[in-house]
Formats: sequence, structure tokens, C-alpha cells
Amino acid sequence: MEPLPASGSSSQGGLPRSAFFDRMWPYTRVDAMLQGIFFDIDDTLYSTTAFAERARRASIDQLIRMGLDIDAEEGYQELMEVIAEFSSNYGGHYGKFLNRQSEATLRGHHQGLLIAGAVVAYHETKSCHLKAFEDVLETLKLLSTGTNLLLGIITSGLRIKQSEKLVRLGVWPFLDQNAIFITDEVGIGKPNPKLYQRACEAFDLDPANVMYVGDNPIHDVHPANQVGMVSVWNKREGKHVDLPCLSPPDHVICDFTELRHLLLDVYKVDPVVRQD
Ligand SMILES: [Mg+2]
Repeated sequence: MEPLPASGSSSQGGLPRSAFFDRMWPYTRVDAMLQGIFFDIDDTLYSTTAFAERARRASIDQLIRMGLDIDAEEGYQELMEVIAEFSSNYGGHYGKFLNRQSEATLRGHHQGLLIAGAVVAYHETKSCHLKAFEDVLETLKLLSTGTNLLLGIITSGLRIKQSEKLVRLGVWPFLDQNAIFITDEVGIGKPNPKLYQRACEAFDLDPANVMYVGDNPIHDVHPANQVGMVSVWNKREGKHVDLPCLSPPDHVICDFTELRHLLLDVYKVDPVVRQD
């Protein structure tokens, strides 16, 4: 990968300030030569929280359609308890959910069929509703085609599950496939700063010249700060927007349109727009 030329200016003099720069924390890094950006996936590239609720409710609705006599809201809350107790990446949520139903509720049902019905309903929700934010797609495409920045992923989760998201979101063509770091594959979990260090070292990049964009101030912003990366808190939506910060992010954005302003105004990243 060709490094970007130096920005040529270490001050903000003369540049227009966007309103978001004054939000919460002032930016602190104005002279880094940016060479790469790593992104979180969940609640950064798409609305994971909203999608997950929709898919889980669809699976409960399917169980009801298959004749299970449960209340939709109570069923959803029970499923959320299962997920909280066994983790979101556990593979047997619906089996555990059925374990918790009464004998009378389960009588006459084939449990394997119910589990399959719930799983199918969950997965079918993906094809309609697992979509990247429009400004995310536009920004990644612009950065991929119009700059020499290394674009990668640092994400927490299982290898195929996280990879599937990159495929369904349609973002994988804009990423360097060697720059996809999934905790399950790497063997280092968030928020261990070694994960972020590993990503920078893989490309022989000084962390000071690499940005990390994520929605979780504890799992994304803080470890990125610990290794000296440029940290960007994507404070858009999801369950982490009100978490306290262990260390302040270098920048706060609400969407990727603001990220593009940030890249242009502070890091002089001015993508060449191609018409093809
Ligand atoms: Mg996230």
C-alpha cells in the first residue's frame, strides 16, 4: 500500500470548523499522517441493536405461528434472558428457551421443528434487514476508490458470523482482506490493546497514523487510545452511547458523513471522486 503524502500542515489555521468538532471533546490530533482506518462492525457499520431485536422478535412470532402458546412480549423477554445468561454467540438459544417452557406448553410439539422454525425466521430477517447505513457504504466506497488508505476491520466475535456480516452488508469489496481482524481468529479479545497493536504491526504502521472507529468507549475507544491510535467514538445509536469513557476519544462522530468531514478537515484526506 502506498502511504499518503504528509499533510503539509500541522495546524488547523484557516480551515473551516464543522459544528461537531465542538461537541463533547475538542479534537486533539490535527497533524497525524493518516495511513489506515480500522472499523468496528456492530453498531458501527449497521444498527446491530435494532436488527437483533427485530430478528429475535421474528423468531418468537414464528414459534407462535407454529402453535406454541406463549405471549409474544413475554417470549421475547425470556429469550433475552437466555441470551444474557448464555451469551449472544451461544448456538443453542432456542433449545434453552424451550427448556424453560412448561410441559403443558410443549405438549404435542416436536421441539426440533420449533427450534428450526425459530432459527429460519431469525436468518430470514437478515436478508431484508441486515443492511449497512447508507452513509457507511458511500464513505467506504469513496475511501476505497479515491484514497490509498488501508481500510480494515477489528471486530469482536466468531469468525464466520462476523465475516457473514461483512458479506451481507456489502462492505467487503472496500476492505483489504488481509486487514480483517476477528477476535475468534486472532485469539485476542476486546478490550485487550494487544488486538489493536497486532493490527497495526501486521502492516508495519505506526499506531499514531492509524484511526479506529467504533461505538463502544470501553471496548473500542480506550484500547485504541492505549496503543496510541487515533480513536473515533461513533456515537450514533445502540447500547453503548451512554457508557462512560475510560479515556477520552480523539474525536466523536454521529455518522460517517461526519467522519468524511473529519478526514478532510483534520487529516487532509480528500478522496478523488471517480465517475465509473
Ligand atoms: Mg460495536
